[in-house]
Amino acid sequence: MTQTVFSSDELLLWFEKNQRPLPWRKTYDPYWVWISEIMLQQTRVDQALPFFDRFITRFPSVNALGKASEQEVLKYWEGLGYYSRARNLHKAAKIVAKKHGGVLPSGYFELLELPGIGPYVAAAVSSIAFNQDHAVLDGNVFRVLARVFGVAVDIRQPSSRKKFQSIADSILPVGRARMFNQALMELGALICVPEVPLCAQCPIKSGCIAFLEGRQSELPVSSKKPARPVRSFAVIRVFQGGRWWLASNEKGLLKGLYSFPLVEYAPLSDSKQVIEEKFFEKFGVRVKLSKEIGSVRHDYTHFRQIAVLFDGVLVSGEKQAVFFSKAEQDALPLTKLQQKLAVL
Ligand code: SF4
Repeated sequence: MTQTVFSSDELLLWFEKNQRPLPWRKTYDPYWVWISEIMLQQTRVDQALPFFDRFITRFPSVNALGKASEQEVLKYWEGLGYYSRARNLHKAAKIVAKKHGGVLPSGYFELLELPGIGPYVAAAVSSIAFNQDHAVLDGNVFRVLARVFGVAVDIRQPSSRKKFQSIADSILPVGRARMFNQALMELGALICVPEVPLCAQCPIKSGCIAFLEGRQSELPVSSKKPARPVRSFAVIRVFQGGRWWLASNEKGLLKGLYSFPLVEYAPLSDSKQVIEEKFFEKFGVRVKLSKEIGSVRHDYTHFRQIAVLFDGVLVSGEKQAVFFSKAEQDALPLTKLQQKLAVL
């Protein structure tokens, strides 16, 4: 069996020279680090950067964020998806403003008490913003550790987490968590990439089991994700007096976000009349569907949404329908699906 020696010095040196110049790395302002970590869950750095700049410009401090309306926060999150992150961030900002005078607490356990902050974000913020000795585990770190230490357990199994956490804890150099955690994540993002890792350029290859044994493609072990179920929705586009009918989601993941009204339906068995009845049940408005405009697909974590857009008119119940001009729509937080439908 290959014996290796992990060198945190080599990794730190590589990070010092090769790190990407990200805005929150300029001063490690805790608020900036916090926002970046929440945005980077489920979103790549290059995708998140323009959102980060816009968000920080509009909400430059915890207090500014806490004072904003939820609708405006959602508007500035529009396009990033996973809107519960924005709602929790907003709730947490209010708590930090009230309970901690607008200063983000530095302790791992105090951070964990805030909405939207779990073990990963608490470790990331306490280490990156405050340089506290907490090792982080994200997708990049799992991959790097599995390869370097030749760990062949399924990274999708919750039970594997303990093993990886103990490895990460054991190699964390005391007093250098800020740089070390980022270095591991950066190595995973830039060099130890999923398909074909760039081992020739890797600063820790001499201590990497996968490299020394040629097992890069076998590691990490990850069981396949189950296929997403497909759910079909009929969407109605009603244009009246220069305005469109939009409805806001009352609950669920998209709470507070607007889109053309839509209902779930069974495409193989529901007739137009059945769909119209579903609109009445959901919105209290009688509608008549006319031409089918087209369809769009949108993937959520747990299902794939197929939305078919119909032109239509209101038959009765106009009081229940709220119409918005183009300018008014621009100020509303819209679902990603709506952004796709709007260009059909
Ligand atoms: S040597 Fe290759 S497999 Fe090992 S950590 Fe570096 S990039 Fe990843």
